[in-house]
Amino acid sequence: MPIKLVPRTAWGARRPATGLTVIRSTRGVKIHYTGSRVDPRLSTEHRRCVTLVKTIQRGHMDGNGWSDIGYSMIACPHGHVFVGRGPHRLPAANGPGLNHDHYAVLGLVGNAGLTEPTDAMLHGLRDAIEYLRKHGDAGKEIKGHRDGYATDCPGKRLYDWVGAGAPRPGSVQPAATPEPAPTAPAWPGRLLRYPPPTRGDDVRRWQKRMHDRGWPVTVDGVYGPASRATCRAFQTEHDLPVDGVVGHITWRATWEK
Ligand SMILES: [Zn+2]
Ligand SMILES: [Zn+2]
Repeated sequence: MPIKLVPRTAWGARRPATGLTVIRSTRGVKIHYTGSRVDPRLSTEHRRCVTLVKTIQRGHMDGNGWSDIGYSMIACPHGHVFVGRGPHRLPAANGPGLNHDHYAVLGLVGNAGLTEPTDAMLHGLRDAIEYLRKHGDAGKEIKGHRDGYATDCPGKRLYDWVGAGAPRPGSVQPAATPEPAPTAPAWPGRLLRYPPPTRGDDVRRWQKRMHDRGWPVTVDGVYGPASRATCRAFQTEHDLPVDGVVGHITWRATWEK
């Protein structure tokens, strides 16, 4: 899915009061929430997202006396990504002395009302991070506002998400490396069958492997009726031709499937 970018003209941004400081790059991005109550009706009415972003800009400019909204980008519950100060501009929201190192990205949730980020918002935040990497030379770091600054921001839910590496919802986390299956030993070159019972080390090796896999078999080096019955059950379970004979296909499947 491409980023659902909302340029400044599209959300009716005011012009910055003074020129914004240009920055070449950052170490990464810091994630924020609003730190106040967010009207839950936001989640069903996107126009309220636009209104809230404008309200935040007004508070930052008229209230804080900043030259513009303090955030670099803002993601709403519907996955739209508003351009705040944008790439290559010094943000203001991270706290004094902390703005050169990280862009500031806001998720439109708060500490009351609407507190739970939607999957679409997490995608939007991720889109913003990738946009700032591509267009603003943001480095790989993804942190929360509270990292290095005394604040609850970005709240538990977003901070946990940041701690998990800010994954896209539904993305598969790298699983623990599976135990590699032992390589099948070379096919012994003869069929293990009954009757008469095939005997030998290759029979014992096959029985040992089956035993290790949890099949009922005696590891005695003699391919008798019990081995044959186990072989048939194994072949049935693995959709192999069921003949009770260990040929090279069944042999290999004993180690691989
Ligand atoms: Zn914050
Ligand atoms: Zn929205």
